[in-house]
Amino acid sequence: MNCPIDLAAALPEADRVLFQNLLAGAGAVQRRALAKIITLLESTRADHRLRADALLNALLPSSGHALRLGISGVPGVGKSTFIEALGLFLVDRGHRVAVLAVDPSSSVSGGSILGDKTRMERLSVHERAFIRPSPAAGNLGGVAEKTRETMLVCEAAGHDIVIVETVGVGQSETAVAGMTDCFVLMQLPNAGDDLQAIKKGVMELADLVLINKADLDEAAATRARAQITSALRLFGLHGRSDRAHHDETIWHAQVLQLSAATGAGLEEFWRVVSRFRDLQAANGALACRRHEQDEAWMWERIHAGLTQRFRAHPAVHAALPGLTAAVRGGTLAASVAARRLLDLVATQAPPVPH
Ligand code: GDP
Repeated sequence: MNCPIDLAAALPEADRVLFQNLLAGAGAVQRRALAKIITLLESTRADHRLRADALLNALLPSSGHALRLGISGVPGVGKSTFIEALGLFLVDRGHRVAVLAVDPSSSVSGGSILGDKTRMERLSVHERAFIRPSPAAGNLGGVAEKTRETMLVCEAAGHDIVIVETVGVGQSETAVAGMTDCFVLMQLPNAGDDLQAIKKGVMELADLVLINKADLDEAAATRARAQITSALRLFGLHGRSDRAHHDETIWHAQVLQLSAATGAGLEEFWRVVSRFRDLQAANGALACRRHEQDEAWMWERIHAGLTQRFRAHPAVHAALPGLTAAVRGGTLAASVAARRLLDLVATQAPPVPH
């Protein structure tokens, strides 16, 4: 395996300077290098992609040291208010915080969830914070890929807390849970009144459920906390046995209440997250989760790349409209069409092992 110095030495001159500036420590020089590298990552130009890949590889050994926190919840639940409050709380304690976003809808609507920096006015101008809106281009897979890569670069630059925000709709929550160490689901105080409305699949992803705006209705928030706590236990979420529920060495999803607007509950939140991190590090779950995430990420990209190549293949390109019409018209079974198309690219049999 290459050592980081070798990889950096092999970079072209301009990128070696970017690499060095990124690792040079906090300041304007690093900030510029960070922005330039992210621009390369987000570029669709093939030569930029090659440079970004080489940089990413060289930076990899310097990344991975941050706590990665995913934050999700429906629009209006208070995500940006919470992230600003939490971010300021953390930078005050000497941390360096990066805030990223995954919002595949932004390319359609034209507005990204973090596009408007005034949403985090104080945090965005803080020297120990870095805020980046969701990459605008492409489908969820593409957007998530850029965010993952940006996360690694932010970590290499020394940000020790990375917060990834997403809206509570569609598959983006799964993507964010798949790139973070701790996934936090935000809810409103009335969430407990209609537990059915909380998607079970998303609940299963949550390491922490946060009832925000507790200041609006303390009683409702307390009720929601109790209801969601018992729902988490009752349904045996995370697939745990009864005995495992009492096992103190593994994490059990917790429900907290908080007011992002007043800051009440913020300290407790951070205490619980710190306990989560210590526990997950001690029992090996953190390392295991990251390894699984990296492998899943690789496969996700392989699938995306193969699909792209498949569609671009001349024979497939020519046959696709006719076969698609036949499938839609009910004259050809979907699986038969798929096999025919796949056969068009299977020109070479795999080599027979000796
Ligand atoms: P997002 O869409 O999830 O990012 O939600 P925002 O952070 O933009 O918050 C939506 C609205 O709720 C804003 O008007 C906030 O001021 C308000 N809000 C956020 N957190 C709280 C809270 O803890 N208490 C109260 N009363 N209002 C809050």
